Amino acid sequence: MFKSSSWHLFTVFGIPVKVDASLIILAIWMFGRWESPAYDLLAFALLLVSIVLHELGHSLVGKAFGCRIRSITLMLIGGAATFETMPRKPWQEMLVALAGPAVSLLLGFAGIFLFAPPWSFPAQVVLFFAFGWGNLVLCAFNLIPAFPMDGGRILRAVLQQFFMSRTKATWVASRIGRGIAVLFAIGAVLQLFGIRVPFVGSSFNMLLIAYFIFVSAENEYRLVAMEQGFGGGLSSDEPPPDEGKAVIGPPPYGRGSTRVDVYRDE
Ligand SMILES: [Zn+2]
Repeated sequence: MFKSSSWHLFTVFGIPVKVDASLIILAIWMFGRWESPAYDLLAFALLLVSIVLHELGHSLVGKAFGCRIRSITLMLIGGAATFETMPRKPWQEMLVALAGPAVSLLLGFAGIFLFAPPWSFPAQVVLFFAFGWGNLVLCAFNLIPAFPMDGGRILRAVLQQFFMSRTKATWVASRIGRGIAVLFAIGAVLQLFGIRVPFVGSSFNMLLIAYFIFVSAENEYRLVAMEQGFGGGLSSDEPPPDEGKAVIGPPPYGRGSTRVDVYRDE
């Protein structure tokens, strides 16, 4: 869906950071929210910095486990660190998934602590809300225990470590992802009809996120099911056969697979 042209911005820790063309839509979308264009620009820049740091959290922990990181891409829906290889053990995957929200949490607390009122300089309000609160929202939203959010990966890792096979754990997390996508879509539609729904924000934005979560949750399951050899006959609507205790399999993702972090607009 979001595969389009992207440009290389800079390289950090040996990881190229790129921007996707779809980011232009996000820039336009965010424009006019603050009292001046300069504040709009600052808020947008702070969001991009926050997402890059979140992705670096995933990437650097991944590197510590020997993963190769192909790139970090900024896009309409958030950011994605593309891993060429993923850690083999569930607990390693869990730490990689936790690292992004952990970075956002720290940045959020730092922002709120450093830029809290009383307002003493002009851009402080932007730093407080767009950076401080923005990072806390980024953290909280990505901890929702459903694919494609980090929380979905954490949930799968825990399920796989203690309770079930990788395929079945992915199926559970992907089902929850679809369920949450449907709830978001219902919330967005209710708002279109003028009913105020908490946590939904703008309907357009939420419908986009709901669609994206739905598709990604499905893809994640298909990918893992294929790797584990259930690709042929298994429809995604039936749970995979339970082959007992978790087996630490081959690297969970094929080359070029992408993890995406969803940016939640407030
Ligand atoms: Zn993340």
